Amino acid sequence: MSPRNSHNRKAGRPRPDHIPSSEEIARKVKQLKGQDSPAFNYRERSLALHGMICAKCAREFTEKDRHLLTVHHIDGNDKNNPADGSNWENLCVYCHEAEHSRGLLGDYFTGQD
Ligand SMILES: [Zn+2]
Ligand SMILES: [Zn+2]
Repeated sequence: MSPRNSHNRKAGRPRPDHIPSSEEIARKVKQLKGQDSPAFNYRERSLALHGMICAKCAREFTEKDRHLLTVHHIDGNDKNNPADGSNWENLCVYCHEAEHSRGLLGDYFTGQD
């Protein structure tokens, strides 16, 4: 349950529960546009921009093992996602881990596939 679901409800206006509310739709659209969750979208953008290849070890990836290719933020700031991809580097999970080798990574990989 998202906490954002509960505070904007309009009483006295029942709707069938299989029809998503306008808030839900707006949130979905935002997500699809990548405005609400850049973390969801920058990876696809970076893979499309830079190609499915690790920038360090030059290992190439395919649709089958693309989940092993991750996006590294060059300046370390995962909120910095310029559309031209200048802050992204495609790294395989091994190189990526090495890049963050001091354990600073913390929960960086959590929520990624
Ligand atoms: Zn690599
Ligand atoms: Zn990284």
